[in-house]
Amino acid sequence: MNEKVRELARLVEQRVAPRFAEIDEVAAINTEKVMDAFRRNRVSDSLFAGTTGYGYDDAGRETLDKIFADVFGAESALVRVGIVNGTHAIACALFAACEPGKTLLSISGMPYDTILSTIGVTGDYFGSLKYYGVDFDHVDLRADGSPDLEAIRRRAADPKVCAVAIQRSRGYATRKALSVSEIADMIAAVKEVNPSACVFVDNCYGEFTELHEPTEFGADLMAGSLIKNPGGGMAPTGGYIAGKAEYVERAAYRMTTPGIGGECGATLGVNLQLYRGFFMAPHVVAQALKTAVLCAGMLEELGYKTSPGAMEPRSDIVQIVELGSPDKLCRFCRGIQYGAPVDSFAAPVPAPMPGYEDEVVMASGSFVQGSTIELSADGPMREPYAAYLQGGLTYESGRLGIMYAISEMLEA
Ligand SMILES: *Cc1c(COP(=O)(O)O)cnc(C)c1O
Repeated sequence: MNEKVRELARLVEQRVAPRFAEIDEVAAINTEKVMDAFRRNRVSDSLFAGTTGYGYDDAGRETLDKIFADVFGAESALVRVGIVNGTHAIACALFAACEPGKTLLSISGMPYDTILSTIGVTGDYFGSLKYYGVDFDHVDLRADGSPDLEAIRRRAADPKVCAVAIQRSRGYATRKALSVSEIADMIAAVKEVNPSACVFVDNCYGEFTELHEPTEFGADLMAGSLIKNPGGGMAPTGGYIAGKAEYVERAAYRMTTPGIGGECGATLGVNLQLYRGFFMAPHVVAQALKTAVLCAGMLEELGYKTSPGAMEPRSDIVQIVELGSPDKLCRFCRGIQYGAPVDSFAAPVPAPMPGYEDEVVMASGSFVQGSTIELSADGPMREPYAAYLQGGLTYESGRLGIMYAISEMLEA
């Protein structure tokens, strides 16, 4: 480790101390919300037992659904290990929101890559929304990344629009995350011109970064992954859907089968990890946010462009840093890998990835395969050679990863 990098970290920590204090405050308030929900729902040891086979009457599963709904200000929720990833949760929600012959309208630009095959924009898969006769259209964000409320009102007024999709996090785009207050304005704009449209929010990477969630501001449906924020680094797999009871039930019909919905689904032995993960989540999200802020702050001191900036507000855990050269991007990822608790001996190299035009370099050494609430970084091998960084289960380990990454970069 370069000693100058250690000094720089200490210096930046002083500069960003007010941001850290704000992040801790959000975690404290969100923890209180989670604890209140645990108390109201009388969480006890017996809920962790789990079921096998059909999984009828799994009290642990049913109570956790109520806790998620409670904390997210939703009527109902579905928290399941049978939801294989965030894309699956989102797909169940979109099928619940859409009807044949009608249109799904995305109002935050084009959705995340993996959702495109569900909609039918890419590939030509049997059973996509397009296959079932659902049209798709989108409204771009404005050049500054803010929602285009005028264009949204104009396009959403079309009576053929039965569902509207909003993506909170930047995903792999260069735009900023949408704040919950911007999302609230977008929902209000849609409801004004088309009150019966179902508004869905892809909440991946957003949970607990702010004091409120989109379901508290009229989102009819919301979905996310348990190997990101709300799993708290403990959930071994899974996803959730929350929102209006009627829509959540429809999503459950898509997840299992019409008529059965959320009544089945054995939890085996994972309830304990899901409860503990949700209990930890506000704190773990704060660790990831502080790791991202430190990374932005250190690279800003070294003259690199970051998004968001260290002192800017955040609505997701993703940090973009523009490193400017293929060598620096690879070195940065090598340092992150070196600082991982698992597979620290591996050296990431750029490789082609299905669905990407350029080669991608990825660093991840996580306890849960592919978990991105754990520290990870990746970037496409093209200008401006930006690394997308997220996660960090503990600030102390996240901080080390960032210091190794920057040390490795400075070796060049
Ligand atoms: C992670 C993510 C998804 C879902 O991805 P999975 O890898 O299927 O969990 C969808 N949208 C956004 C914005 C995401 O960050």
